[in-house]
Amino acid sequence: MITLEQATEIAEARDAWSVQDDLCDCVYQRIGSWFNPYIGEFLETRLCCVWAKFEAQWPELFRRTKQEPAIWDGEADMPVAVWHRQMSAHLGVPLEEARTLAGSAPKGKAKPEKISLYLPVGGDEYAEFVLG
Ligand SMILES: [Zn+2]
Repeated sequence: MITLEQATEIAEARDAWSVQDDLCDCVYQRIGSWFNPYIGEFLETRLCCVWAKFEAQWPELFRRTKQEPAIWDGEADMPVAVWHRQMSAHLGVPLEEARTLAGSAPKGKAKPEKISLYLPVGGDEYAEFVLG
């Protein structure tokens, strides 16, 4: 039997799917993965693609509600796969076309460091105030 550490090494050595690998056109890329050490098998499924097939077959079971897309405010650069999907929604064009029109993804912005102040409120209790 292989250990969890060995299983993790095997998973990392494979060309594993990820939620931003852009290997499908699904808006919400989701990957399910399971490992059963007792049968020595990994199971991965592109849940997003399964959902797309479900939605095509049973559209009455899905609801989409549109809202104004948020502006990227992450500290890391916006993932390209997310950027392309945002541009597809913003421009109202298919994802394939958005990939060619989108340009560079927004850069991340470092957030200011937060400072915590602990003030006594009685006895041994303190209240935390976060500044920043
Ligand atoms: Zn998919």
